[in-house]
Amino acid sequence: MAYEDIDRVAVLGAGNMGHGITEVTAMAGYDVAMRDIEAELVEDGYEQIAWSLEKLEEKDLLDEPADAILDRIDTTTDLEEAVADADLVIEAAPENLDLKHDIFGDLEAYCDEDALLATNTSSLPITDIAQAIDTPERVLGLHFFNPPVKMDLVEVIYGEETSDEAADAGYEWVESIGKTPIYVRKDVRGFVVNTIVGPFGGEPAWMVSNGEATIRQADAAMVHRRGYPMGPFELADLTGIDVGYHVRKEGGGDIPPIIEEQVEAEELGRKTGKGYYDYEGGDGADYEPGDGEGFDTLRVEARMINRAASLVGEDVATPDAVDTGVQLGLGFPEGICRRGDKIGLDRVLEKLETLREETDDDRFEPHPYLVELVEDGKTGEDAGAGFYEYDDGDGALEGYHHLNAEIEDRVLRVELDRPSRMNALSADLLAEIDELFSSVDVDEIRCATIEGAGDRAFSAGADITGFGSLEPTDAMDVTPAFETVHDFPRPVVAKIDGYCLGAGLELALACDLRIATERSAFGAPEIGLGLIPGGGGTQRLMRVLGETRAKELVFRGNHIDADRAEEWGLVNRTVSRGEFDETVAEFVDDLRSGPPIGLNVAKKVMNEGSEVGLEAALAMESQGFGLLLSTEDVMEGTAAFAEDREPEFEGR
Ligand code: NAD
Repeated sequence: MAYEDIDRVAVLGAGNMGHGITEVTAMAGYDVAMRDIEAELVEDGYEQIAWSLEKLEEKDLLDEPADAILDRIDTTTDLEEAVADADLVIEAAPENLDLKHDIFGDLEAYCDEDALLATNTSSLPITDIAQAIDTPERVLGLHFFNPPVKMDLVEVIYGEETSDEAADAGYEWVESIGKTPIYVRKDVRGFVVNTIVGPFGGEPAWMVSNGEATIRQADAAMVHRRGYPMGPFELADLTGIDVGYHVRKEGGGDIPPIIEEQVEAEELGRKTGKGYYDYEGGDGADYEPGDGEGFDTLRVEARMINRAASLVGEDVATPDAVDTGVQLGLGFPEGICRRGDKIGLDRVLEKLETLREETDDDRFEPHPYLVELVEDGKTGEDAGAGFYEYDDGDGALEGYHHLNAEIEDRVLRVELDRPSRMNALSADLLAEIDELFSSVDVDEIRCATIEGAGDRAFSAGADITGFGSLEPTDAMDVTPAFETVHDFPRPVVAKIDGYCLGAGLELALACDLRIATERSAFGAPEIGLGLIPGGGGTQRLMRVLGETRAKELVFRGNHIDADRAEEWGLVNRTVSRGEFDETVAEFVDDLRSGPPIGLNVAKKVMNEGSEVGLEAALAMESQGFGLLLSTEDVMEGTAAFAEDREPEFEGR
């Protein structure tokens, strides 16, 4: 079975996950049958899909009418009817092994013999589920995250018997619905994402239980000092403290007393109004940035990095898969392997060894792969290798972690790749933009485009985590990235689809041309934080929009929509999402086939001319004009004009 052969999909279960998986499958153009055990349950699921599609349609996020998508969904309570013609079945029934055995037993009877059979289980071994049937090689895990419509990640999990063919078909199918798959090559408890998140919640819970830290201290430190989207206790309150309790219990490990106490008191988090924080009588997760002082964040991260080492060392997942998993599945600000390489794996190992000795607890036992890396001198980025290999920067398009860059047909295409953070510009991402635009071989390219990954934002701003702890003098060292893009000798086009705010807007302004979709929103919200744009925004907005409009944006801090942005001249074109790629391609085609030196000189004299008086600017222009007269491109341009053909500019 190859994924190209998958036309019809059946989803078993119309609950939380089942209806979401059905929705994203139908959105991708597949016919889906959704089955639950009672008519009312299937109807509920279908209504939730209809509601969700309506919301997406309102936000212009669908490529076709919601009704056309709904038309591809059949609902039924009859298992045989649901799966008889299915090429892929995804089981999303309750987490109970006996029940899943029954279901898979029935699937063997009713399905085509080469249908791919997937389970969405979070915690049961795929191998155990596959035992129910005689063809376990076609059973795999496709672990979606909640809610499937929003969460991009899907873990593709091998059971012991799963064939490569089945896993590959599952992987490619996940890509075909626009989600990001990662391979989990062995059937380990927690797969990748939950393996890493275990110590994120568990270690702070031990520290608080032992009186070594407080709840607010741990949450504030992990969020404000280390950039995690939520504190460990805040997260537990959101997912339900009992949920984590049961997972730990099934895992067979000791449970931190503080978790046990909460469960006994039935204070389970938001859903009961009270957990680690009080959501009814109190203000919820009310920690402040300054509360995090003195908390040992390395202790928590060392344990997560040790777990990552176990996954990589035991060939469960590659460092890339682990890092993609935690970024997309947990919203981590960067991959955990990457973070280990930055901290230094020798420091991580030392931390674990010290804690192991002090506490005599196995949970700090360093994994042999971590020990091996350190013994081989692979201690991380500074050493040139760790989980990853680091080159010395001359392979310009390799080695970027926060952006993707490729040169295709003489166009440098750059994608800001932090979709879980709406492509917020962190110091690392800005450093990579600077590095890329400074080191790329300009002779190889004619123009560049910058866009955001995911489907929500070009870039929603600066990643201000950790801002509070910056020394004012350090903060005044404005990143050179914006200037590097602005001064880049080739035209740069910003492709804006979604939020373009704060530092994201400043990056777009550093580009030469901006093309936006209708749903995009623009703004400089810094003033709301008591700040001003710090990446050239105040000055470039003045030059691009003029004082009246620039001051409105900066002073009021409000968003403007894409139509107004076009009216104001902030963007060159605003188009529907359907016309977006084509419009950008038309611009890029002109830039790509234009004379490289001519465009470079035009960009330079127009940029620099706006900084000086008219007389000096005119002098620059004539100098540029004179310089171009001696180029071969001008001869080619004039010859082509005389011969009535398209010029072929060589950049000479
Ligand atoms: P849920 O309780 O919301 O939905 C399960 C649905 O399956 C119910 O509507 C139930 O009536 C139906 N069902 C029961 N027996 C069935 C059968 N024989 N055939 C078809 N449907 C049947 O549960 P959920 O949260 O959607 O979880 C479903 C699966 O997804 C579980 O294995 C869970 O571990 C996994 N999962 C859940 C999450 C999450 O965050 N909720 C995330 C990832 C994976």
